[in-house]
Amino acid sequence: MARTQDQRVRREQAERDKAIAGLISDRFPAVAGIVIRMKYYQKLSFSPVLMERTAHFYPDGYAYFHMACMTQECVDGGFDLTPMIASLVKQRKKSGTGKLKCKAVNGSLSADHASIFYEIVVQYT
Ligand SMILES: [Zn+2]
Repeated sequence: MARTQDQRVRREQAERDKAIAGLISDRFPAVAGIVIRMKYYQKLSFSPVLMERTAHFYPDGYAYFHMACMTQECVDGGFDLTPMIASLVKQRKKSGTGKLKCKAVNGSLSADHASIFYEIVVQYT
């Protein structure tokens, strides 16, 4: 029950964050589209690659590039790719790659419980 409420609160927070972030067309007017490919790794798993995901973003979408952490016990974790995208667009670069650890600071989870490798491709108008 409490968990359901937590999820609702977090979903509402995400909606607020999206509204604050604004639209891609406003924040990055030169961008025609963004593709994020990521591989999600979880440390406790037997198989190192847990998930691969590709997400597409268009100018009429929100400039909100937060990817959730898939670890069930992880609260308020995730990966915020907004600074990387802002930096790519500023330099008008077409792509960039990197690695991020889950940002959650959580007593029962190790600091490196989850990480992603990401590849960002930016298309310009
Ligand atoms: Zn996490």
